[in-house]
Amino acid sequence: MGKRQALLSKLPSVDEVIKGRYGIDWLKKYPRAYVLKAIREVIDLRRSELLSGAATDVSPEDIYPDIEIRIGHLSSLSLKPVLNATGVVIHTNLGRAALSARAIENVRRVAAGYSNLEYDLETGKRGERHSHIKKLLCETTCAEDGIAMNNNAAAVLICLNTLAKGREVIVSRGELVEIGGSFRVPDVMTGSGAILREVGTTNKTHIHDYEKAINENTALILKVHQSNFRIQGFTEEVSLERLAALGRERSIPVMYDLGSGCLINLKAYGIYSEPEVQEIVRSGIDLVTFSGDKLLGGPQAGLIAGRKELIEKIRKNPLSRALRIDKLTLAALEATLMEYADAEKAIEENPTLNMLLQGLEVIKRRAKKIAALLTKSIKNTAIKVTQDSSQAGGGALPGKEFPTYAVSIKPENISVNDLEERLRKGEVPVIARIKEGCLLLDARTINNRDIDTLVRSVSAALG
Ligand SMILES: *Cc1c(COP(=O)(O)O)cnc(C)c1O
Repeated sequence: MGKRQALLSKLPSVDEVIKGRYGIDWLKKYPRAYVLKAIREVIDLRRSELLSGAATDVSPEDIYPDIEIRIGHLSSLSLKPVLNATGVVIHTNLGRAALSARAIENVRRVAAGYSNLEYDLETGKRGERHSHIKKLLCETTCAEDGIAMNNNAAAVLICLNTLAKGREVIVSRGELVEIGGSFRVPDVMTGSGAILREVGTTNKTHIHDYEKAINENTALILKVHQSNFRIQGFTEEVSLERLAALGRERSIPVMYDLGSGCLINLKAYGIYSEPEVQEIVRSGIDLVTFSGDKLLGGPQAGLIAGRKELIEKIRKNPLSRALRIDKLTLAALEATLMEYADAEKAIEENPTLNMLLQGLEVIKRRAKKIAALLTKSIKNTAIKVTQDSSQAGGGALPGKEFPTYAVSIKPENISVNDLEERLRKGEVPVIARIKEGCLLLDARTINNRDIDTLVRSVSAALG
């Protein structure tokens, strides 16, 4: 037998591996197809290395760790948790709002088995999925009625389709906005079957612009929140009260797509200059729509609050079946809304509000702790705490800067871009930003419970 032949015969067969100690173990933990694929690939690779001379020896044991790594890759889930070190609290690409402990617990409770999703426990007959959050939506928004859809885009779509299909909707030119590329007011309008009637100019729209546009085919007046930008300077928009009054005079419903709705008056915390949902309802607007996973800090959903007769029509629209909210979302949403029954509790327990409203000193202390732990485990790297600013994100509070503290890292042996990439591709991905040649880890959006993981990930990336 030649030398090469002797080496090749040291390679185990797929069958030997699968029946061996490791193989049996893997089959308990991973799908059989992935285990077999990984074993085959690693053995094939070793064989070709031996044949080409790239490897000169092989012991069966040294292939097991490689197989294990490969199985891990094949069977790893695509959607996974990451650490958000960007400081952007409502980061759409990173999944927007984190749920509160109670909301998570309620999802677990409902997900594990059957529920009364559409079953009326009083009568023993078919029930209504929307009934579960109606009362809470009314209480928290002060509206007569409320309903939730799959997301806010769906909420806007169904409102327009229900109230204005084939008829005209008046919108100010300053509010024909695009949100995140996939939601453009004119496109949603077309999709709903409504006809867009633009009025005013980009910077100024007056009440008489709306008045002049009203005709017998007008179905709705729509106001859209300028979620992700600000027009400054020579500007004018019509107040909610004035628009609501015009709608009442002419018997035309008025709707406000608020986008990032907040149920707490944040002015008291010195950071908000826009009305909360309750205030909009009180202004006389007939319908208001907002997201569940922006400032509200709940699951992806689109909430509609407003006049009973309009919500009733929306409920009966056949589209509501296509756009309906699922039971896990409902479970998270109900628990999230319940927390707003006590505003102080909501601020403590809702992660989104908590991250936005936490004191600067708290952020600074966290940044210092992260920096100290990093300095202890990493040599030859300049690590310091710097003051910076973060954003709310998610179309909330545009242009508003929140002072924050970040850990700044200037790596010695690799470039800052390499560091950013390694962190992003790490076992627990860390998403950070680069500023002036340094990597910044914003402590605002880092959970205390994630600090150790963060330190380990950064040490690994620099090690
Ligand atoms: C974010 C936003 C939307 C889209 O809401 P989703 O929940 O992402 O579907 C629509 N309108 C406005 C004004 C927004 O800010």
